Amino acid sequence: MCQVIRVKPDLKKVINKARIANKSIGLVPTMGALHQGHLSLVKMSKSQYDVTITTIFVNPTQFNSKEDLVKYPKTEAADIKKLTDMGCDYVFIPTSKEVYDIKPTLKIDFGYLEHILEGKHRPGHFNGVGLIIMKLFGLVQPTGAYFGQKDLQQFSVITTLIRDFELPINLHLAPIIRENSGLAMSSRNQRLTTTEQESASIIYSTLKQAKNQLLKGVAKELVLKNAIETFNMAEGVKLEYFEIVDAETLQDIGTVSAGDRLALCAAAFVAEVRLIDNIIIEI
Ligand code: AMP
Repeated sequence: MCQVIRVKPDLKKVINKARIANKSIGLVPTMGALHQGHLSLVKMSKSQYDVTITTIFVNPTQFNSKEDLVKYPKTEAADIKKLTDMGCDYVFIPTSKEVYDIKPTLKIDFGYLEHILEGKHRPGHFNGVGLIIMKLFGLVQPTGAYFGQKDLQQFSVITTLIRDFELPINLHLAPIIRENSGLAMSSRNQRLTTTEQESASIIYSTLKQAKNQLLKGVAKELVLKNAIETFNMAEGVKLEYFEIVDAETLQDIGTVSAGDRLALCAAAFVAEVRLIDNIIIEI
């Protein structure tokens, strides 16, 4: 059984016990409504660390849409069962009051990352992510922590935290787990009907289309134009952005040349639900 922890003092007891026993700790932060993507992170952590702690917390400070926060799927009992089946040792499921008993005074500014891609379209989002992740790092003191490539810019933000604060934590990036249709697994997919999920698969198919064109040497501007046209023709899907950026810095690139590592990133709304996805390629 995956042991459920709800309050910070209980979490501290578990952490102290693990540390005294010299056990390494793997942390998997999530917002719940767990799917195979989340569980792949748990599996990796279990293979690398002695103790795995998953956290489930729908962090209000990282939502910039009230509706998105209120409608975020919650499936706690099913999540605990999935974690138990995966052999996860502990799951920390605090309330908002428990987490933010002391209101944070800090604001974290991630520099240029605030002005591109997700940062640009979700003002304040990464401050919320940074604060909760620092809090979880402080509470759990993990040896390693796992994050998915689906939230690529989040990974850059956390890399920045680790580097700037010199945190002794191994950071692991996990590949994107997809539905058979290619749609990246996401808790928010639960808010879509089957037909809407089918429409949403255009996000990945267009990323793949762009990847193939770039690999064939089609100019970046034309690739972008084609991608935008594909979205314009699709029903029920509204593209927010489609960008081709440097995979490391996530910054805009000029012309594409051999050896470049690129991230193709997209965000789109399907029936009011905002979805993101990306592909990393090497030219
Ligand atoms: P979330 O619950 O959406 O905050 O996600 C928790 C963690 O799981 C984040 O590090 C995500 O990047 C990761 N994750 C979400 N969806 C996927 C997926 N389809 N494949 C792999 N990892 C994922």
